[in-house]
Amino acid sequence: MRILVTGGAGFIGSNLVDVLMGQGHEITVIDNLSVGKASNIAHQLSSERFHFVNDSILNVNTLERLIRQADLIYHLAAVVGVKYVVDDPLGAIVTNVRGTENVLEMAFKYWVRTVIASSSEIHGKSAEVPLHEDDDRLLGPTTVGRWSYSDAKAIDEYFALAYAKKGLPVSIVRYFNAYGPRLDPKGYGSVIAKFMTQALRDAPLIVYDDGRQTRCFTFIEDTVRGTMLAATVPEAAGRVFNIGSSQETSILELAEMICQLTDSASEIQHVSYEQAYGVDFEETRRRVPDVSRARDILGFEAQTPLKDGLQRTLAWFKKEGMET
Ligand code: UDP
Repeated sequence: MRILVTGGAGFIGSNLVDVLMGQGHEITVIDNLSVGKASNIAHQLSSERFHFVNDSILNVNTLERLIRQADLIYHLAAVVGVKYVVDDPLGAIVTNVRGTENVLEMAFKYWVRTVIASSSEIHGKSAEVPLHEDDDRLLGPTTVGRWSYSDAKAIDEYFALAYAKKGLPVSIVRYFNAYGPRLDPKGYGSVIAKFMTQALRDAPLIVYDDGRQTRCFTFIEDTVRGTMLAATVPEAAGRVFNIGSSQETSILELAEMICQLTDSASEIQHVSYEQAYGVDFEETRRRVPDVSRARDILGFEAQTPLKDGLQRTLAWFKKEGMET
């Protein structure tokens, strides 16, 4: 198949590209390298089946040319990471809303099956456990920048569902804290990257608040497999899927595991949310996916235990992550 991966130089995108290339597909990546990195796809450039377009999804002419030639689209290009969104809300909103609108408009015009990447952040600070795809969303006020990401992704989902209603085979995957090789070591968007970098430097691991907030960290191989199933299982069209692990871990436990795995002399230090993010910040204290729909319709279940995934991520950080 000829597959277009938007954001294919990013963390999830480039890992997806590797699997798709391994299956023998012809892959085109469009990425403006704002969050993604050339080094994530450099090893593919020599293949005749791989094409890289360094451009933004806001450029509709480029996008139209690429989508016209595609049999399938994975739309992962986005400004991701709470910190990026809080720092540059305008850039994030425009890319995340207009960019997806562009992709879907062209997918509809040329009738190309599409998977849209969304996020567990959709649910905001909802205390519901586990979070089912159809549960209510609970967001703070518009003056708290963090929630603009949730709303931007919600608009993306509304667009996708609206096109699905018109018959376009489009599916939505909501990621729950994906991690693994190629996480940005600067760790803008991921606590695992930050803790690993800190531990490998024997610097303090900075845990926000009491560290009892929880996440279900999902190893990238699982995330990629769930994404691909959403593109290939016929019943997935027109639906939303949680793609996440069921292993709930507190941030403090995570910090302790990483210290242990790295054999680090680092201490664990607590800082307040206010110190970390500024005054206008609100936190999601628990985030656990309901995985039943993904299991029943996609046949998907995350398989990698956190400890194994952390070990494999650490191996990459030691070898390559600390240099980039
Ligand atoms: N966190 C932390 N120290 C950090 C970065 C994050 O304690 O240096 C916490 C953060 O408060 C949150 C969790 O780790 O509860 C996950 O944060 P991340 O930014 O990785 O993802 P998200 O908040 O989007 O789930």
